[in-house]
Amino acid sequence: MSKNSAGSRIPAGSKVSVRGLRKSFGSNEVLKGLDVEISEGEVVCVIGPSGSGKSTFLRCLNKLDELSAGTVIVDGFNLSDKTVDLNEVRQHIGMVFQHFNLFPHMTVLQNIMLAPVELKKQSTATARASALKLLDRVGLAEKADARPAQLSGGQKQRVAIARSLAVNPDIMLFDEATSALDPEMVGEVLQVIRDLAAEGMTMVVVTHEMGFAREVADRVIFMADGVIVEEGTPAELFGNPQQERTQDFLSKVL
Ligand code: ADP
Ligand code: MG
Repeated sequence: MSKNSAGSRIPAGSKVSVRGLRKSFGSNEVLKGLDVEISEGEVVCVIGPSGSGKSTFLRCLNKLDELSAGTVIVDGFNLSDKTVDLNEVRQHIGMVFQHFNLFPHMTVLQNIMLAPVELKKQSTATARASALKLLDRVGLAEKADARPAQLSGGQKQRVAIARSLAVNPDIMLFDEATSALDPEMVGEVLQVIRDLAAEGMTMVVVTHEMGFAREVADRVIFMADGVIVEEGTPAELFGNPQQERTQDFLSKVL
């Protein structure tokens, strides 16, 4: 692959390649040297106690946080390269947060059309047609003209997912996307994530939903104190954890 406007777009064997990733806030080292390779279409769930660095890890994958050391290559973009075009990177890697951050003054449709029109310079007609398809995909076709305030938490989160998908990303990051939802709404959001997995989307999913991780993940990573303590298939990690810290964590959450 040749160099393009986004800086060094170098060939990568995997969709996400993280080597020796360190991240400090002041003197607090939060990520202490992570190595992760994620292949195309792989679904990786990240679990671990609060404060272990899971969100910081995801934020380093789309450079919402600056890396302190190490290399992160995402869809061929080297995020350690200062000249990398973040607008372009973020069209390749979408992120969904615990809180939906929809624009309250815009309709559902306008929220979804914003990035395609502003960043991708799509025509309004094209963006509208794609947005309607995405809304249908997340089961909310009838809510196109609603405002976020008129939606339930689960519906807002499904709109937020549709909005992330609107730039047609190759990789999706989910940071506890169901943690702020009432229990009865968790299932509808997990179903959308499950559908994406079935369609072959490459995903990194930070979650407290152990049942979901067990069912959907190709690989589960257990993080604690800024390191990857253990990783494996769901059967390995949940069924036969090797490390005491993993066993201890699982005994509290399962
Ligand atoms: P997790 O998502 O696993 O709960 P986080 O990545 O949110 O963990 O946080 C890991 C550590 O990094 C915590 O000690 C947290 O206080 C610290 N941290 C996260 N973001 C910042 C920030 N912007 N400034 C300072 N410290 C931060
Ligand atoms: Mg977090």
